[in-house]
Amino acid sequence: MTAPQTSWIDSANDGKSHFPLQNLPYGVFSTQGQTPRVGVAIGDQVVDLAALDQAGLLPEAARGTFAAASLNRFIALGQPVWSETRRRLTALLSGADAALRDNAALRHQALVPMSAATLHLPVEIPGYTDFYSSKEHATNVGRMFRDPDNALLPNWLEIPIGYNGRASSVVVSGTPLHRPNGQIKLPNEARPVFSACRKLDFELEMGFIVGKASALGEPVSTADAPAHMFGMVLLNDWSARDIQQWEYVPLGPFNSKGFGTSISPWVVTMEALEPFRRDNPAQSPEPLAYLRQQDKNAYDIALEVALQPDGAAAPSTICRTNFKAMYWTMAQQLAHHTVSGCNVRVGDLMGSGTISGTTPDSYGSLLELTRNGAEPLTLADGSQRGFLQDGDEVIMTGYCQGDGYRVGFGTVAGKILPAR
Ligand code: MN
Repeated sequence: MTAPQTSWIDSANDGKSHFPLQNLPYGVFSTQGQTPRVGVAIGDQVVDLAALDQAGLLPEAARGTFAAASLNRFIALGQPVWSETRRRLTALLSGADAALRDNAALRHQALVPMSAATLHLPVEIPGYTDFYSSKEHATNVGRMFRDPDNALLPNWLEIPIGYNGRASSVVVSGTPLHRPNGQIKLPNEARPVFSACRKLDFELEMGFIVGKASALGEPVSTADAPAHMFGMVLLNDWSARDIQQWEYVPLGPFNSKGFGTSISPWVVTMEALEPFRRDNPAQSPEPLAYLRQQDKNAYDIALEVALQPDGAAAPSTICRTNFKAMYWTMAQQLAHHTVSGCNVRVGDLMGSGTISGTTPDSYGSLLELTRNGAEPLTLADGSQRGFLQDGDEVIMTGYCQGDGYRVGFGTVAGKILPAR
């Protein structure tokens, strides 16, 4: 049996839309005068799931979970309900079930042009963890700040390195952030100065949203890990490099990361990403037993970063890379996270770590693209960037290329405001 490939919503079918029938990502949106509710993106429209639920068109098991300001209640229902809801939506939006297509009043109520919708943070995030799983990124950073000949610390090939990040400052795409202030240690000074960050950077990452909690004390195996994932988002892990360099020893980043993390508004489900699973990258040495994996846990997701200075006519693309080359997979990250007995909760956000490829145009941070500011990039408007300036907007995008369609993530964008 072949699933229907097209929707009666034409804008979903052009082969370039990030939101064709094969995607159906979940988000939270509002229109003027209305409270936030759960929606699904299709073409240039948002489908109001609260409205479809009220009309009795969605699974009984999900009743009442869509008139909510976050996806958490729906996610907590579990994988069988996610799948049943996806099947119902596929039928309704393909026209296999005509209940929405042929009901003008319901269409008017339930379809909102994306241009008229305000998108909100899709998930209430109890905890945010950030990993460091790109070998190329870790090598580039190690070369710059430690030893060019021994760039990777000995633990890096054994552990999916991570730290507990800050959930309170995770914001949705479009939320501007102020340049952080903090302690900076200048090379020729005995003591630090208090200053606005002078080396403000982005980190191109992806994140997964935990869909199934684990119990305190009970590790999740790499084999079970995929069942604990609801979906993925684009993630910009903004980084204040100068603050980071002074504060990170010995417990890791703190103020240099905690001032803000941006995610895309649409959560692309693991079910939609299933056709884009790929073989895992080779790992040497072979990881310890609890980190070994049988499934294909890599995903083929093309990624880009663009930078648009304040007032510039157009953004300049400054990075093109792919998620599939990440050394440690999401399943290994979750297995490692829980192996100590640490539990995870529905809505937890797990950042991949900066995604860098092997070529200089595939590095996922300005730190690497400009060699710590020493080799500035020239943008389309002729201006140069070592690190971010006030007014700069960073725009990340990504998609999986299918046969005649794309399962896309939309964008995560954020603008830098002057320091307070
Ligand atoms: Mn990071």
